[in-house]
Amino acid sequence: MVAKTKAKPAAKKAQRSLHQTAVDQFHRAADLVGLPEPHRSILSHPKNEVIVNFPVQLDDGRWEVFRGFRIQHNNIIGPYKGGLRFHPDVDLDEVKALAAWMTFKCALAGIPFGGAKGGVTINPRDYSDSEMERIVRRFTHALGANIGPEHDIPAPDVGTNAMMMDWIMDTYTNLSGPGSRQTVKGVVTGKSLACGGSLGRNAATGQGVLYSLRHWCGEVGERLDSLSISVQGFGNVGAHFSRLAYKDGCTIKVVGDHTGTIRNDDGIDIEELGPWVADNGGVDGFPGARAVDAEELFSTDVDVFVPAALENQITLERARTMTCRLIVEAANGPTTPEAEELLTEQGVAIVPDILANAGGVIVSYFEWLQNKSSSYWSEEEVDRRLRTLVWDAHDAVVVTKKSLNCTRREAAYAVALERLADVYDRRGIFP
Ligand code: NAD
Repeated sequence: MVAKTKAKPAAKKAQRSLHQTAVDQFHRAADLVGLPEPHRSILSHPKNEVIVNFPVQLDDGRWEVFRGFRIQHNNIIGPYKGGLRFHPDVDLDEVKALAAWMTFKCALAGIPFGGAKGGVTINPRDYSDSEMERIVRRFTHALGANIGPEHDIPAPDVGTNAMMMDWIMDTYTNLSGPGSRQTVKGVVTGKSLACGGSLGRNAATGQGVLYSLRHWCGEVGERLDSLSISVQGFGNVGAHFSRLAYKDGCTIKVVGDHTGTIRNDDGIDIEELGPWVADNGGVDGFPGARAVDAEELFSTDVDVFVPAALENQITLERARTMTCRLIVEAANGPTTPEAEELLTEQGVAIVPDILANAGGVIVSYFEWLQNKSSSYWSEEEVDRRLRTLVWDAHDAVVVTKKSLNCTRREAAYAVALERLADVYDRRGIFP
């Protein structure tokens, strides 16, 4: 058996441990709310760490063994819930951090889910569609009973999409037997509409980011349509956020992705950029803007910066060049702790990831509810309920921020931790 040459090993990450960042954030908030033991120890560790190595035959007949992860952080409030990431940098440390953030995100959003995350160390762009289908199906098989509609429910994240969720659902359904074909659809969310997905799920995270921005505008007395914005990432989250913000009158000055960075100070026409990216695989070469150095994404003078790509993007060095007044963290973990300290000192407001990007998991919850009842909601209904939950979470954070005199991130954690601690206190800890 010969290893395929195009399969790249995971890139060595130069940054600090993402899981350490997540644990540090947790402990800071735990100190603030006086979280007692054993809640503190329980919530600073994942409950289960599943690692699978699984073989898949490639189109040229060779075999490759892939490594996949599923980290189940906590399920005291409800089934484990969180996305699946397919990216060359996926490793245990990253997935552990992302899983912990899901626990706090769901508690903050007030939805009955716990936290989990998974992924495969792979660059999906290196594989054909039929190879990807076999990889996704075999990964689902390898996870086996570790996932389930009442146990652990994956969803899309970086490098995964609705088609892959359909394959997971179909594989799981076939493994479950004919008697439960209809009842296990909710094993995964973010499916296509034809396979039991929810209207509004595709755009939900971007929509939630925009509702977050609107809430901040209301809080500080700004007009949404007066804001200039830079966006990093033009995938599911970045593209939907940009489209919706553009429609509401915002000026999107700079957009960057893995292919390049483009700038137009009069505003990039997002209606034209969307089809361009779909046809060309990235923003590079878009005729309605000029190509600029990647660092201009951070240093360009805008009101709002929206990171919607990967973690650890806003470093201390980059933070020193930033002049925005607000960062809305559409991505998970985009700001390093050192950068956050500097930005906070400079008066830059940060809407933290567990609050800003909760729209995706909120509509995943709606999809799961619709699958359970086999009755489906209109897009208006989904959006109305989404806005209510996002705004309720923001209201709770604003109140806590004032009462604890802390940052928005600390307040978001504090709200989540108090809700989790309340459940532990009432249920007790087995045995
Ligand atoms: P995606 O794969 O659809 O898009 C990722 C984007 O990031 C792409 O445009 C890619 O070009 C860009 N990118 C990758 N590397 C980059 C680099 N080095 N510099 C600049 N851009 C780069 O992923 P997504 O689903 O849009 O997720 C983006 C972020 O949002 C992630 O942090 C994810 O965890 C978070 N998130 C996603 C969801 C969801 O529903 N998809 C929900 C909550 C949070």
